[in-house]
Amino acid sequence: MVKPCPICKRDAVAERAQNEFAPFCSKRCRTIDLGRWLDESYRIPAVEDDEEDEAPPVSNGPGDRTR
Ligand SMILES: [Zn+2]
Repeated sequence: MVKPCPICKRDAVAERAQNEFAPFCSKRCRTIDLGRWLDESYRIPAVEDDEEDEAPPVSNGPGDRTR
């Protein structure tokens, strides 16, 4: 029974006996999956977005002719 890789959904993943990265097709996909998992677990809810006000543009002088 061969299943597609859950990450790239392309390559057929060999069984674990022949593929140390199962259920992923490759080390790369396994790393990606791990990265996603960690990213979610470490993500702090809220306190994201609402970053509209970054550092205000540096004025080039008292003239401030941005308009
Ligand atoms: Zn893959």
